[in-house]
Amino acid sequence: MSPDIGTILKDSFGFPGFRGVQEQVVSRVMAGLRTLAIMPTGAGKSLCYQLPAIALPGCCVVVSPLIALMHDQLRAANAVGIRAASLTSVDADWRETQDRFRAGDLDLLYVAPERASGEGFRAFLRSAPLSLFAIDEAHCVSEWGHDFRPDYRLLRPLLDEFADVPRLALTATADAHTREDILVQLGIPHEGMIVAGFDRPNIRYTVQPRDSLSRQIADLVAAQPGPGIIYAQTRAATEKMAASLATGRREARAYHAGLPPETRAANQAAFIASEDMIMVATVAFGMGIDKPDVRFVAHAGLPKSIEGYYQESGRAGRDGDPAEAFLFWGADDFARARQRMFEVEAARQPGERARITALGALVETGACRRAILLRHFGENPPPSCGNCDNCLNPPASIDATETARKYLSAVYRTGQSFGTGHIEAVLTGATTDKVRQRGHDRISVFGIVEGEETALLRPVSRALLVRDALVPNEHGGLELGPSARPILRGEEQVSLVLPPRRERRRRSDKGS
Ligand code: ADP
Ligand code: ZN
Repeated sequence: MSPDIGTILKDSFGFPGFRGVQEQVVSRVMAGLRTLAIMPTGAGKSLCYQLPAIALPGCCVVVSPLIALMHDQLRAANAVGIRAASLTSVDADWRETQDRFRAGDLDLLYVAPERASGEGFRAFLRSAPLSLFAIDEAHCVSEWGHDFRPDYRLLRPLLDEFADVPRLALTATADAHTREDILVQLGIPHEGMIVAGFDRPNIRYTVQPRDSLSRQIADLVAAQPGPGIIYAQTRAATEKMAASLATGRREARAYHAGLPPETRAANQAAFIASEDMIMVATVAFGMGIDKPDVRFVAHAGLPKSIEGYYQESGRAGRDGDPAEAFLFWGADDFARARQRMFEVEAARQPGERARITALGALVETGACRRAILLRHFGENPPPSCGNCDNCLNPPASIDATETARKYLSAVYRTGQSFGTGHIEAVLTGATTDKVRQRGHDRISVFGIVEGEETALLRPVSRALLVRDALVPNEHGGLELGPSARPILRGEEQVSLVLPPRRERRRRSDKGS
C-alpha cells in the first residue's frame, strides 16, 4: 500500500484499513489494469473506484443503471468531500457540471449507460483527462444475467475509444456464466477478475415446502424475536399478510411500489427505528436500506434467482449477530417461473432456465444449503456448514423412483389433462364420479398405489414439477415435461428428501 493511499483511506473516508479484497482491487486500478470486482452487497464496492478517483489525476466516469442509486452515492461521496456530480435526465445543472468537468474540478461523474455511449457525450469526455471508467452493476451487460440492460452493450465502443483509461467493472451478483460474459463484453482479461468471499456465516438457512403458508408464517413470527422482513410474491399479498400479522402483539406493515410515497416512507422509517417490527414487502423493499439488526428474512415464495435470494436474505444479520433466513416454496412457484421463461426473448431463455434449475437444486437438496449458495458464486465450500436446516437436522432420503414412474404413467394414460387431485384419485383407486365418468377405473394404473406409498404422492408430484418432468398446461392439467422420459425409462432416479420435522408438525396439526 503506497503511503498516500493509506492517507486518503484514513483522511477522506475515515477507515483504518481496507476490507477484504478492496486493497487488491484498488491496487490493480491504481496500476492501470482492467478489473472485474465481484463483491457481495455491503462489502464496500464504492470505495474501490472512489479512492482511485481521488488519488489519480483526471475524472472518474461512473456508469450506473438507476438514477435513484446514483443520487444516493452522489450524496455519500459529497459528504466525504469527494467532488462528484451527475449528468442525468433529472439534473438541472448540466452546464455547471460540464464546466466543472472541463476545468478539472470533478473527481467523479455519474452517468447512465445510454447517455455515456452517445456521440456528443464522447466528444465531451475528450475535453478533459479521465482517470477511470467504473461500470457499476456490471451484470447488466450480460444476457445471461438476471437484469440485462441493452444499453450496457453500447459501452464497449466507448471504453475502447479510451483504451488507455483503466476500467473497473463491479457487481454483487454474477454466476460463473455471467462473469465470463462480463469479461468478454467489457474487454477485461481473465486474470483481472477478483471475487470476494460470499459466505455469511451468521445466517442460518432453512428451506421448507409450503403446506399452510399462513400457519408457517405465524409460527415463524411467534418464534423469532427482533425486526424481520417477509418477502411476498405480490403487492396484494403483502397487504393481506401484514394485516393478518398486525392483529398479533407485534407491529406489522406492508411495503410495495404501489403504495403512496408518504406511506412507503413512513413504513420504512418505522421499520428502521423499530426493534421488533415485521415488514411484509415485495422485493422493492430493502435496496439501499441500512438496518444492521434485521434478525430474520423470510421468503413466502420462490425468489427470482439464487442471486436474488442471496441478496434479499443477506439483509438479515448485517451486524454479525445470529440471524435466520427462511424460504417457503411450492411446486406452483416453479410452474409459474417456467411459464414466465417462455415470455422472454429467445436469447434470454437459457439463462432463465439455468436460474430455475439452480433454485430447484437449492430447495430440493438434502445436503448443505450454504454449500449450494457458495458454489453458485464460484467458491469451494466445505460439504457441511453446521448452520443450515440440513446440516443441523440431516433429513432422511428415500428412493421414490418407482412412485415417480407410476405418477408419470398415470398422467400419460389419463391423457395429460388432469390435475394432481384426479391423478391421486386414479392412482389410489378412489372411485370418484370423475374417475368413473372418464372410465379411469378401468385403466392399468388404477389403484396401483396403496398403503404408505400414498403419502409419497404429493412430494413426488412436487419433485417432478421442480425438475420439469411434469409441466402444467394453462388449465392446471399436468403434462409430461422434457425430463419425464429418462425417469420412465429407468435411466434416472428420483430421490426424495423427507424433512425430519414432519412427525412433530403432524402431531401439532391434530392439536389445533
Ligand atoms: P456495496 O456497494 O459493496 O454494497 P458500499 O460501498 O455501500 O458497499 O459500502 C458498504 C459500507 O461499508 C459503507 O457503509 C461503507 O462506508 C463501509 N466501508 C467500505 N469500506 C470500508 C472499510 N475499508 N472499512 C470500514 N468500512 C468500510
Ligand atoms: Zn449447511
